[in-house]
Amino acid sequence: MRLISDSGFTTEQEVYLTAFVAGLKEGRDLMPHLGQDAEGRFTHEEEETVFGTPVDELSREERIKHAKNGLDCYDTILANGSENQFPEADDVFRYKFHGLFYVAPAQDSFMLRCRIAGGALSTYQFRGLAEMAQDWGPGHADLTTRANLQIREIEPKNCASVLMKLADLGLTSQGSGADNVRNITATPTTGFDPDELIDVLPYARAMHHYILKNRDLYGLPRKFNISYDSGGGVSVCADTNDIGFYAVRVGENDQGVEPGVYFRMQLCGITGHEQFAKDCGVLLTPAETIPVAAALIRVFIENGDRTNRKKARLKYLVDDWGFEKTLEETEKKLTFPLRYFPLEKCDAPKPKDKQGYLGIHPQTDGKNYVGVLTPVGRMTVSQMLALADIADEFGRGELRLTVWQNLIIPGISDDRLQAALTAIQATGLSHKNNTIKGGLIACTGSRGCKYAAADTKGSAVALGDHLASKLILDQPVNIHLTGCQHSCAQHYIGDIGMMGTKVKTDDGESVDGYNIVLGGGVDDQQAIAREVWKSIPATEIDSLVEKLLCAYLAHREENESFAAF
Ligand code: SF4
Repeated sequence: MRLISDSGFTTEQEVYLTAFVAGLKEGRDLMPHLGQDAEGRFTHEEEETVFGTPVDELSREERIKHAKNGLDCYDTILANGSENQFPEADDVFRYKFHGLFYVAPAQDSFMLRCRIAGGALSTYQFRGLAEMAQDWGPGHADLTTRANLQIREIEPKNCASVLMKLADLGLTSQGSGADNVRNITATPTTGFDPDELIDVLPYARAMHHYILKNRDLYGLPRKFNISYDSGGGVSVCADTNDIGFYAVRVGENDQGVEPGVYFRMQLCGITGHEQFAKDCGVLLTPAETIPVAAALIRVFIENGDRTNRKKARLKYLVDDWGFEKTLEETEKKLTFPLRYFPLEKCDAPKPKDKQGYLGIHPQTDGKNYVGVLTPVGRMTVSQMLALADIADEFGRGELRLTVWQNLIIPGISDDRLQAALTAIQATGLSHKNNTIKGGLIACTGSRGCKYAAADTKGSAVALGDHLASKLILDQPVNIHLTGCQHSCAQHYIGDIGMMGTKVKTDDGESVDGYNIVLGGGVDDQQAIAREVWKSIPATEIDSLVEKLLCAYLAHREENESFAAF
């Protein structure tokens, strides 16, 4: 099996050594939040407080974690599997530590959410995931907004086989759900992007493995997202993460900082709560990002709210403390001081090119990458197998998943390009940038998620087909459909965002509908979309969005983007 990144292991090993040996102080092995006592024994019930919060004040999920670490429910998975039984009560939550989501009543089955650092997969892995979707799933898989992959309709009897096969593929689903650090994202073109400042995949992978191998980094007060932006023109929505690392170049300066490529650290992005991450003033070398993130997560573990789920994300701790105290506490866990450096003294980042990765693009090595549009992230098994074959035959045996629910095939030479495009076309997918469908994002919706108030994927596909038949847009427009306030499809960052809601018709029937927000964006086009229409029946969104886009085309200034309109 080939290595995922051409940048290889040398950098990564350096990153590891820095993180483990040099960056973090010792004494961080205990997990009182998960019921580990001062001697390191797992004696859950004996603890009376969890980081100062009395056990009887813990939220329901905290009590579940405290009673038994979700990582330790594998025996239950096996026992239930032998009877083909679903988990009951608290174990439903614990299964999510292994990436297994029991999604009843939407579907009487599990959804598997993988972990794919930086969205980078070898064709061996991609093919293996297709086999899993064929053997134990519904014959298709879904790309997510964390450059990840989900497989649905898994029966209890197949859970252990699913987890073992993931391990065989060199993948895991550990910590992809519940209150854990979620899939580490990275610019999907990193390592071959001529515009980037640094290959961030080694750092995303190092972070991924650091999290996986430290049990104390599970069972946070709430989920936690980390992303690496390589400084090029392709967005990874890093500013929607709890920690967004943005590569920047620092030139000659009067601050005593060596010129070079560093990362700015942005904190507390949580767009479902209408907040982007903000620059906290800190400048980090690439290798420092791992120990600093680990230290900050541990500060969050020790001090986050464990009584109220709605206030348990990092944002609320930082709202209470401010950046200064949060960073002081982080620094106490490090062997090196944080480096403060004015943002304005860093070189201005390259503007992002919305949907710019779709289609054919040159790489640093003279070859090409092709961005493939996979509508609302869904691919059949036969499409997945064909894409793996294409990446093997014409590319470098690798695929990259994007946070925009599309994917990239890198490493195609000029002389093989046309044959590769023909092969992509034959799968029923397209490399051609479609200004409407290229930015059409939808969460699982009511066909597979109990929280959904609408069939988001169904609505999105119908909307995309309708708009494509009615108008031609020369500027990309991102449309995000999310089924509920959890905002998995991040409706607040869409040019057009929709959140599912139930709508009462005149005859009293309850039907699918959407509240519609306009004007969102990320990175240099950062904006939280504002609500414009409420309770629009799903059957009316096609004509409403069509009218909206026609009005934009009719009244915009020359080449004005929808965001600026
Ligand atoms: Fe489910 Fe809501 Fe997330 Fe959609 S946004 S997948 S409905 S939890």
